[in-house]
Amino acid sequence: MSKESLLFCASEVYPFAKTGGLADVAHSLPRALRDTYNIKVVMPLYSCINRKKYSIKSLKKSFSISMNNIEYTAELFGCNYGGVEYIFIYSSLLCDREFLYGIPTEGYADNALRFAIFCRVIVEILRDNTYDIVHLNDWQTALVPLLLQEESLIKAKTLFTINNLAYQGLFAYEVLKEIGIDSKYFTTDVLEFYNKVNFMKAAIAYSDAITTVSQSYADEILTASFGCGLDGFLRYHKNKLTGIINGIDNEHFTPSHDKLLEYPFANLTEKKLNKKSYLKEKSLKGITKPLFIFIGRFTQQKGVDLLINSLEQIASSDCNIAILGDGEEIYQEKIMKIVNEYDNIHFEFKYNEVLSHQMYAAADFLLMPSLFEPCGLNQMIAMSYGSIPIVHKVGGLKDTVHDYKLFDNKSSKGYGILFEKPSSDSLINSFDEAIKLYSTKKDYNKIVKHNMLCDFSWKNSAEQYVKLYKQL
Ligand code: ADP
Repeated sequence: MSKESLLFCASEVYPFAKTGGLADVAHSLPRALRDTYNIKVVMPLYSCINRKKYSIKSLKKSFSISMNNIEYTAELFGCNYGGVEYIFIYSSLLCDREFLYGIPTEGYADNALRFAIFCRVIVEILRDNTYDIVHLNDWQTALVPLLLQEESLIKAKTLFTINNLAYQGLFAYEVLKEIGIDSKYFTTDVLEFYNKVNFMKAAIAYSDAITTVSQSYADEILTASFGCGLDGFLRYHKNKLTGIINGIDNEHFTPSHDKLLEYPFANLTEKKLNKKSYLKEKSLKGITKPLFIFIGRFTQQKGVDLLINSLEQIASSDCNIAILGDGEEIYQEKIMKIVNEYDNIHFEFKYNEVLSHQMYAAADFLLMPSLFEPCGLNQMIAMSYGSIPIVHKVGGLKDTVHDYKLFDNKSSKGYGILFEKPSSDSLINSFDEAIKLYSTKKDYNKIVKHNMLCDFSWKNSAEQYVKLYKQL
């Protein structure tokens, strides 16, 4: 039987362009599906992407997209990377930018137009009907199911994944004309959201199936506390909503084969070499002290305020702390102020993949106090790399990190320290628990060793996607 064809669409894919977990998922899920489906991944060819490095070549196919009587040209490029075929869409307005979406606190003013071009070219790619399924991710691709309402000859079924409901693609009403969308769609059951245009609503309304990236988050977004204003709308469409936990890519995140590490490791003795080397490089002292790390985007979502408010108290304990992140500069300033007072905190305000791997390898604990977390990858990477996660019990964190006090060696679950209430006090209490756990080396090592053997790969979740695609 011939394989079915799947077009996987995302606005960022590792290693070409990455701002967060979506890029990891868009890299690793297609790899997990490549033997089951004829799969192609489509993304914008941003100017930051190194065409030479990845042998990205023109596919000699171009389109002219007309919106509001203005023509936008787009050309397709392609490459094969790691056994997956990639299609890149180049259109100057979409791609020639310093950042993917703009600065963290403010997207580019013409993002609606940029990603309308992306969506319209995806529809052009679907036009020859070689794809059975189109798997879309987040607001940047969310207009596709709406555009397909006008295309009776395109047969592909649509699956839309909400990787983070906090980013919905909200724009002023006036963009409708600019992006050539009929105002008949500006109704409460499709695009209208408090007088604004909401791209994500279009996908929720018209996709054949919707997924989000953990079962707990799937439940949470149906409530007012986590629904970002769309909980009622999602409750209305909840029959097509499924939660499927993300996995991490074994090829990229296995400590014994990690090419980004100075000392790839499979046991705690080898892991220690990474800690030693990291501490030395960053001028942190005390190999026997526990090393706590935080890696992530500096946004409210990640609980950076909790971290900042508890940082001085935490740093007063006998430990080292390393923080890596980029995003809102106000957080950088606040952390910097504290860092200057303590010689056991190391802080880097940047995005650096190699450094992040070194930190996971060196760390004893990962701090992840996210206020909400659709899935979260850091905690799974941390457990694979032998550092125990300290997390707020929410969303995907709740589904992947289990209370170490209920440790069961025979279970296949990963264990860590969880706190219920997102407050600095809770974080400090969990930190104190961590210090205590670390001092009982035998218990600490038992959990770490167990976590390192857990399977956080895509295997199970990819099977769930296959099941869903088949239902479509
Ligand atoms: P989100 O997508 O909300 O940012 P996830 O936990 O899903 O969060 O994924 C975050 C990914 O990005 C992980 O692979 C993490 O290691 C990585 N990451 C986040 N910030 C940085 C940074 N400053 N430098 C390097 N890697 C980072």
